[in-house]
Amino acid sequence: MKNKMLKKFAPVAAILVLFLSLLAFQHSTLLVEEKVEGAARPILIQGPMPIEAEKFAQRLEKVKVEKSGTFVFYKGKLNNYPVIVAKTGKGMENTAAATALAIEKYKPIAIINQGTSGGHDPSLHVFDIVLGKRTTNIGSLKTGNIAQDQGMDPTIWKPMDLMASEGSGSDPNAEKVRYYEGDKDLLAAANAVKDKYTKGKVVEGTIGSADVWNNEVDRIKWFHTNYGTSVEEMEGAAAAQIADAYDVAFLGIRVLSNNKTNGGTYNPNTASANQDYVYEVVKKYIATLQNK
Ligand code: SAH
Repeated sequence: MKNKMLKKFAPVAAILVLFLSLLAFQHSTLLVEEKVEGAARPILIQGPMPIEAEKFAQRLEKVKVEKSGTFVFYKGKLNNYPVIVAKTGKGMENTAAATALAIEKYKPIAIINQGTSGGHDPSLHVFDIVLGKRTTNIGSLKTGNIAQDQGMDPTIWKPMDLMASEGSGSDPNAEKVRYYEGDKDLLAAANAVKDKYTKGKVVEGTIGSADVWNNEVDRIKWFHTNYGTSVEEMEGAAAAQIADAYDVAFLGIRVLSNNKTNGGTYNPNTASANQDYVYEVVKKYIATLQNK
């Protein structure tokens, strides 16, 4: 009798249990989604080389390391606010990919691309820091029309704005320099903590990026005159372009590690000095976010 009853009700009971656990599962995933949506969007700090990322990463609390391809993301907390340090690798391609990936994965509220750079402005010295009021690609160029055996002339190269149109061919509108503006709130936070940096001065300026290391002083001067560059490096403009594509706040912060225009020789210790300063900037920025 008991057995018969059991047999009769077992399928019903099984369906009931399944139904209840489905409900419970749905409820718990809803809770998780709500938490993700309600959580503060992290600040992303990018550094190309280990010396430009790891010092900052060490200062975060509760760090979890996530890897994707060659990119390393150190997810942690600073003053209880989510901060992610990304070691992007050097150059424009690594940086663009790491930026797009981080935006899709972590939905950052702001991105700071920081590291070392070479001076284009003779009034800036090794250990001075440039806040990228503007960032621009200095490797996107169109050469002159010169026939065979007539040589090469970089002085007549023209800037080429690859974002000017979606077409190809000789678009005269594309023969201009495209600048990405540094985010106002990030710039304000950076300016507010300027005095905490004692190893050099902190100025606003123009950061130029390309997969090129320029050591020809006349060429450096050409960029300084035609693009208004304060410094050059190999990442900022790539990150700025992708941040702009997704409408994420962006700022480049670059310390001079050398300056060919005034004899400033390369000093790798500038990389860690810059991270100390950027740490202050991020703390200030978090404070302004929390007061909003
Ligand atoms: N030291 C290596 C090259 C490093 S690539 C060598 O000589 O083989 C340069 C890296 O440092 C990039 O991440 C770039 O952003 C930064 N950098 C520092 N100073 C630079 C300069 N004067 N020109 C271009 N990139 C510079």
